[in-house]
Amino acid sequence: MQQLVTIIGTGPAGLTAAIYTARAALKPIIYAGLQHGGQLTTTTEVENFPGFEAPILGPTLMEEMTKQARRLGVEIVSEEISKVDFSTEPLTLWAGDKQFTSTTAILAVGATARTLGLPHEAELMGRGLSTCATCDGFFYRDKKVMVVGGGDSAMEESLYLSKICSEVILVHRRDQFRASPIMEARARKNDKIQFLTPYQAIDLQSDRRGLTGVKVEHQVSHKTKTINVDGLFMAIGHTPNSAVFSPYVDTDEHGYIKVTDFTRTNIAAVFAAGDISDPHFKQAVTAAGMGCQAALQAQRYIEALA
Ligand SMILES: Cc1cc2nc3c(=O)[nH]c(=O)nc-3n(C[C@H](O)[C@H](O)[C@H](O)COP(=O)(O)OP(=O)(O)OC[C@H]3O[C@@H](n4cnc5c(N)ncnc54)[C@H](O)[C@@H]3O)c2cc1C
Repeated sequence: MQQLVTIIGTGPAGLTAAIYTARAALKPIIYAGLQHGGQLTTTTEVENFPGFEAPILGPTLMEEMTKQARRLGVEIVSEEISKVDFSTEPLTLWAGDKQFTSTTAILAVGATARTLGLPHEAELMGRGLSTCATCDGFFYRDKKVMVVGGGDSAMEESLYLSKICSEVILVHRRDQFRASPIMEARARKNDKIQFLTPYQAIDLQSDRRGLTGVKVEHQVSHKTKTINVDGLFMAIGHTPNSAVFSPYVDTDEHGYIKVTDFTRTNIAAVFAAGDISDPHFKQAVTAAGMGCQAALQAQRYIEALA
């Protein structure tokens, strides 16, 4: 029998799409890729996903979603989709050497937050290091934090954190910012935000509990100093994981998959959900919501073929 729905990615978007399509008796298969459970498996406490009175660990939340999908009969394959041909219907996909066809595909492959590449980043993630102020800012109430970046998202993150934290130090390696003048002006006007340029973060200091400070280097004199902070927010952008699909699926100039009418791509049988098509919000709950939309739209597409 023709595979009806193939879902790519097992983050909140993909697993939600799997839950919905499984309950619609569409027998979805979901491909996990290299990071089963998606980005939330790299964090500690999640406090803003509804349904849990106490904070839930990111990996636990994704394990629960996986178990829910499995209970509904979803087949989860631990492989990456390496190639696609979306030029004809049914769609053709490859997982390694295995080639198969599917009536529809839901792309829920996420966007990877860029990090600075400093030593010990991975072990300090969620223990002082973060790539998302909306997600983690709350844990730094009345604390001193640093934001690194020079674009609009660095300004946005700094402004957001200024409402929660005692002090925000915004570090950028150049004196000029890529951010829009209005966003920069807003941040400059804010008493709690201190600009530190042209400096680059070059090392992380920590103790048993987590991050304690960041070593920064002046980009002209190369003098260094260590600034004691409780948190470092890296606001240097995301890389959407769309490369495998972009020969067929339209993306914007940053690589985010373009969608219209909720989750429709330029290819009628292909839907996109979650961070891969959302340059704006990038939250687990919005990704899950888009996964639901993609599932229902894929279901309607299949029903219309009958
Ligand atoms: C450190 C950290 C903390 C965060 N904290 C919070 C928080 O507290 N609250 C919150 O709401 N959000 C938080 N976020 C954001 C949240 O994790 C994302 O918004 C959410 O995970 C996006 O879900 P997604 O399903 O779109 O994609 P992702 O979670 O990114 O999942 C993408 C999936 O696609 C798979 N994949 C990619 N390419 C392929 C391929 N070619 N073939 C097969 N599979 C593929 C990956 O392996 C992965 O399974 C945090 C993010 C980070 C990095």
